[in-house]
Amino acid sequence: MSTVDILSLIRQVPDYPKQGILFYDITTALENPAGLRAIMQGFIEHYRDQKIDKVIGTEARGFIFAPTLAYELGAGFVPVRKPKKLPSVTIGVNYALEYGTDRLEIHADAIKPGERVLIVDDLLATGGTAHAVTQLVSQLGGETAGFGFLLELDGLGGREKLAGFDIFSMLTVP
Ligand code: IMP
Repeated sequence: MSTVDILSLIRQVPDYPKQGILFYDITTALENPAGLRAIMQGFIEHYRDQKIDKVIGTEARGFIFAPTLAYELGAGFVPVRKPKKLPSVTIGVNYALEYGTDRLEIHADAIKPGERVLIVDDLLATGGTAHAVTQLVSQLGGETAGFGFLLELDGLGGREKLAGFDIFSMLTVP
């Protein structure tokens, strides 16, 4: 267990990106050396012995954690990106997110059939984003080994949307 209070390092920004939304800004935890170390160690310790083949980071804040975690687990890193960002053949999925709708894409050869895939992002809210990513994994024949989040917003249905999957949230806020 880390002695660093990571939640206290995360800045809460009212009315961003629009009126009535309380935005959890993780950059203030990342710029704190002890905070960054505690976050990465939390992920690494949780997933160390889980035989993960690939770690997916979802654009953009998933990119912050996934490569270092993949490196530490001896796994590969796979980016899931917004449309038209990946240069080779892709598959994609449209999804609803907290502030509208969007689409995510993955290289069609990035996950091999049977690979165990961990999906990492900064925050779980409604679960729409994470659910879209697991659809991409299953379309490529991969197995979603679990979801890792720094922060889970409780009560927005994310956990229910991802029912049946292993979910690790380092922090949960009501
Ligand atoms: P969901 O799809 O509703 O679960 O929303 C999660 C996605 O929205 C993640 O990719 C987050 O990066 C982003 N997101 C939603 N709310 C916040 C927030 O308060 N802080 C940072 N990211 C957020």
